[in-house]
Amino acid sequence: MAGTLRRLVRVRDLSIGGGAAVSVQSMTKTATSNVSATVAQIRELEAAGCDLVRVGVPDLAAARALGEIKSQIGIPLVADIHFDHRLALEAIAQGVDKLRLNPGNLQDPLKIKAVVEAAAQARIPIRVGVNCGSLPHEVRARYGVQLSSTEGSARALVEAALTHIKLLEDLGFEAIVVSLKSFDVPSTIRAYEIMAAERDYPLHIGITEAGVPPAASVRSAVGIGALLSRGLGDTVRVSLTADPVEEVRVAIEVLRSLNLRAGGVTLISCPTCARCHTDLQPIAAEVERRLRPLDRRLRQARRDLRVAVMGCEVNGPGEAREVDVGVAAGPKSAALFVGGEIVGHIPPAKIADALVAEVERLVAEP
Ligand code: SF4
Repeated sequence: MAGTLRRLVRVRDLSIGGGAAVSVQSMTKTATSNVSATVAQIRELEAAGCDLVRVGVPDLAAARALGEIKSQIGIPLVADIHFDHRLALEAIAQGVDKLRLNPGNLQDPLKIKAVVEAAAQARIPIRVGVNCGSLPHEVRARYGVQLSSTEGSARALVEAALTHIKLLEDLGFEAIVVSLKSFDVPSTIRAYEIMAAERDYPLHIGITEAGVPPAASVRSAVGIGALLSRGLGDTVRVSLTADPVEEVRVAIEVLRSLNLRAGGVTLISCPTCARCHTDLQPIAAEVERRLRPLDRRLRQARRDLRVAVMGCEVNGPGEAREVDVGVAAGPKSAALFVGGEIVGHIPPAKIADALVAEVERLVAEP
């Protein structure tokens, strides 16, 4: 569905575009110069399924911490830099795997050239990331009131990105990833459509400044899902005013919803209704929580496992039979299904234990 026609860009051993699997990224919320806090957060993101991580580099202390951070993590490290080309040069010297910057913000052509040459020599790509909130003044002035329309703001985003991209292309640099983000979902979708017709660089997608979950998760899922369904999107970042681990969880669920992410546990649970005689909500929540460590192992093994927690005998047996492990609760006990067969009946208080035990057994199988 996604990424098949875009150019391939490599970030260390991770492929973006060229038909590669859509990757998930996030951004740390710690002070980058605080190495131990930043590494701890990156490790949490890595454990949650993050494929590459970006850190903000607001000053030289942050830039100088990058090598130490990189030496302690397993996923590619992206440095997010604005305005000061010395930070970009230091980040490259520290061994980062990718830069996010807008060359136009560096102003001086000689400074842009220095950064681009250093990136080319280090064989690292650059993401040109344009946000509606930081459009160049001249683009903002030219579009004026049109910025309030979907088409106008989309075209302004693309124009700003193309201006930055051209600075790189004129220097012969084409290891480029592009993002065009807005809070407004229709403008974002339209901007990526226009950009996809202009250039074949891989697309980093997301809805920026989406807000606080759950509203932000829904907004992100709608925007990212719509883009991916159009074949637009090679790497995803969900932006939430929340723990970044939640960003990764939402991104992975969006990809799984579109069958774009292999490996892991998918939990199917019914919403419950008057037919349900079991307090299913805490059971489903407990199962979800206890399956997370197994989810990581399955992701790494690219193995899929589906688990169902169903509240009654109407849809319950059908769903529970279709998955690897499932329960269909009844008035007094729940039928436990493994591989489509009933293997026993369990009291409601033991549902979570029984499900998790069966999943652990299946995961342990070769
Ligand atoms: Fe209601 Fe049963 Fe459907 Fe759950 S599976 S929503 S309890 S009818």
